[in-house]
Amino acid sequence: MRELSKRTAGFTDSVIRRMTRISQKYDAVNLSQGFPDFDPPRELLDRLAETSSLPHQYSITWGAQNFREALAEKQSRLMGFSIEPNREIVVTCGSTEAMMCAMLTVCNPGDKVAVFSPFYENYGADAILSGAEPIYVPLRPPAFNFDPDRLESAFKQGAKALILCNPSNPTGKVFTHDELTVIAELAKKYDAYVITDEVYEHIVYAPYVHTYMTSLPGMRERTLSCSSLSKTYSITGWRLGYIIAPPEIIEVARKVHDFLTVGAAAPLQEAAVVGLRFPKSYYDGLLQEYTEKRALFLKGLKDLGIQYTTPEGAYYVMLDISEYGYESDLDFCEKLAEKVGVGAVPGSSFFRENVKHLIRFHFAKRDETLYEALNRLEGMKERMRKT
Ligand code: GLN
Repeated sequence: MRELSKRTAGFTDSVIRRMTRISQKYDAVNLSQGFPDFDPPRELLDRLAETSSLPHQYSITWGAQNFREALAEKQSRLMGFSIEPNREIVVTCGSTEAMMCAMLTVCNPGDKVAVFSPFYENYGADAILSGAEPIYVPLRPPAFNFDPDRLESAFKQGAKALILCNPSNPTGKVFTHDELTVIAELAKKYDAYVITDEVYEHIVYAPYVHTYMTSLPGMRERTLSCSSLSKTYSITGWRLGYIIAPPEIIEVARKVHDFLTVGAAAPLQEAAVVGLRFPKSYYDGLLQEYTEKRALFLKGLKDLGIQYTTPEGAYYVMLDISEYGYESDLDFCEKLAEKVGVGAVPGSSFFRENVKHLIRFHFAKRDETLYEALNRLEGMKERMRKT
C-alpha cells in the first residue's frame, strides 16, 4: 500500500483525551480531560427539548443569525467595542476548530508562530497541520511569568503570530494588564497577529480579572479572539465555539471554516442563544461555584500534604510528583488511574521543555465527585511508591 500522509507523523493522539479513555478503563474518577459532570443550566436544556421548533438543516455556514446577534451583544459588552454580527464572527465546532481555523487563516506553510510553554496540547498539532513552525517561549514556574526578551526574540526570528491562552490551560495563570501590554506592544512593533484562546474568560478568581487582548489599544485589528460556550455553559459536547476578528480577517476565516466543517450544529446553536442572553448574574453564579470548588479541592489536597500550584483562573491544578521518582509522568498517570482510581494528565503533554515531574488535575466536578477523588488520593502516597 502507498504510504499515508506524513502530516500527522509529528504528533500522537491527544494525551488529554487518551487519559479519559484510560480513566474509563479503570473506572477512575476522571480529573484528566477538563469537562463538568454536572448539568448545563436548565434553561438551555428546556430550549433543547423543544426539538420540533429548532432548526434541523444547515445554518448559514458562518453561524446562525440569532446566535451571532446574541454573541455580538454579549461580547461587545465584555470587550468594550461594538462587534458587527454579520462581518466579525465565525461560529465554529468548538474552540478546537476556532483555533485551527485561526491558524490556517493567518499562516502559510513555513511561517513561524510563537507559543508559550506550557501550552494546551492542541496548539502543537494545530501548528503542524497548518505547516507553521512553533517557537516556544517559556512561562517560568512558579508564577509562570515570561521574559519579554525571550518573547521579543521569537518575533525577531519572524513569528507572524502569537498563540495566547488566557486564562492559561494548564497553569491557571491569568495574564495581567501589564503583561498583556508588553505582548501587545511587541505584536505591534513586529506587525504580528495574536490568536487568543479565551475559553476560561468567565472563570477568573478574585482578585484577578480577565482582560481581552483585543481591547488593548491598537490590538483589535490584529487579534483573532477564539473562545467557546463549552466551559461557560457546561456544554462541552455541544461543540460551539467562535472567532471574533475584524472583517478582513473573518472573510478569510469563513472560507477556511466553510470547507472544514460547513458549520456548527444548527439546533444546538439555536438552543444556546438562551445562554448567550443570560444576565450578568449567571456569570457571577458560575464564578461563585468554581471559586467554591477550587477552595474545596485545594483544601483537600493540602490536607493530604500534596504540593500544588494555585490557579488564578480556569479549573486546573498542577501537582508535583517528584518525590515518587517516576521517570515517565505518563507511566505515573496510568498507574494512578489503575491503583488509586483517579485520572490525571501528565504534565509533559503541555511542556516543550523536558518537564516530567508535574501532573494536571481539574476540578470541574460535582462536590461529591471531588470528595470521592480526594478520598481515593489518600492512598496515593502508599500505592504510588515505586517498589
Ligand atoms: N480543554 C480541556 C482540557 O484541557 C479539554 C478540551 C478537549 O479535550 N477538547 O482538558
